Amino acid sequence: MTYPQLKIDLNKLKHNTKVILDICKSKGISVAGVTKGFCAIPEIVEAMVEAGIETIADSRIENLKKIQHIPVKKLLLRLPMPSQAEDVVNFADISLNSEVETIDALSHAAQKFDKQHKVILMVDLGDLREGILPHEVTDVVEEILNMSNIELAGIGVNLNCYGGVIPTGHNLSELVSIAHKIEKEYSISIPIISGGNSGSIHLIQANTMPKEINHLRIGEAILRGFETSFGKHIPNTFTDVFTFTAEVIEIREKSSVPIGTLGLDSFGNKPVFVDKGQIWRAIIACGKQDIKVDGLLKKDPNISILGGSSDHTILDVTKTSADIRVGDIIEFELDYGAILMACTSEYVNKTIFK
Ligand SMILES: *Cc1c(COP(=O)(O)O)cnc(C)c1O
Repeated sequence: MTYPQLKIDLNKLKHNTKVILDICKSKGISVAGVTKGFCAIPEIVEAMVEAGIETIADSRIENLKKIQHIPVKKLLLRLPMPSQAEDVVNFADISLNSEVETIDALSHAAQKFDKQHKVILMVDLGDLREGILPHEVTDVVEEILNMSNIELAGIGVNLNCYGGVIPTGHNLSELVSIAHKIEKEYSISIPIISGGNSGSIHLIQANTMPKEINHLRIGEAILRGFETSFGKHIPNTFTDVFTFTAEVIEIREKSSVPIGTLGLDSFGNKPVFVDKGQIWRAIIACGKQDIKVDGLLKKDPNISILGGSSDHTILDVTKTSADIRVGDIIEFELDYGAILMACTSEYVNKTIFK
């Protein structure tokens, strides 16, 4: 075995995928399975597809390229860069958009390859990341409908992200009424009304999801079993599809407070310390180049994470009853950002269990 190691349990992932699909299907909602959290590692994507996902969504076209051989619809989540228009129409069936100029570039690229490209127009309902404002919708739709190689497949919203705005029956109803308004004004149908991400699941659970919302883009709930508006665990899902292990390279009893005049730490921040007297400190061989250190979720509640630098993470193991020695392997669950970092780092060995 080589460490640090990220273990991925595909059976648990498939189980979570099925649970989320069942929750959404019960309300007539289709799910785009979001793979950016694990860099769209093809074997993991395949497991999601085997569990019933019909559309895979990722923020990066590079990730969608990696999984071209997997027969599943592909959706690009991040607004396309105009410079990538050709890749977008070639490697994604559908993309989320908010800029007429970009959609026009997609139309020209699609024309060049004799394709039709589908777009979901994003509307900003207050989270202040991507999306046109509600009052701009009519004008933008009119321009899209005039483009030869673009099909307006739907409208969508993203919440919970930049501003942390929580999806509610109220703001999602606003999305629905925008869709209805477009349908009436242009006598067209808007097949997809995409009501957000893992943060929208609580509305299904509370039975307050507007019935016209028929699409969600879901990553974290599948990968970790959490809805993300309130951080609640979703019943009957696994939280440990992804686990992380690292090896102890030093264990010593030392002071809890550094000795000497304090300047900046290795990342240019001024550290703050709590004096707990002498403590047992274990160093594990992983750091910020491998993992989001504060996203390591320890299994033993008596171990605490003191911090880390690029290549080292320091644990306070004073209170644990485990007899920790050099060479021991410590295991963690991970938050979403930590999964993402571990998958991105080439120093983390990935082991997939079927
Ligand atoms: C990342 C992302 C999602 C998925 O978010 P989760 O919280 O992982 O479900 C959905 N939509 C967009 C636009 C995204 O960027």
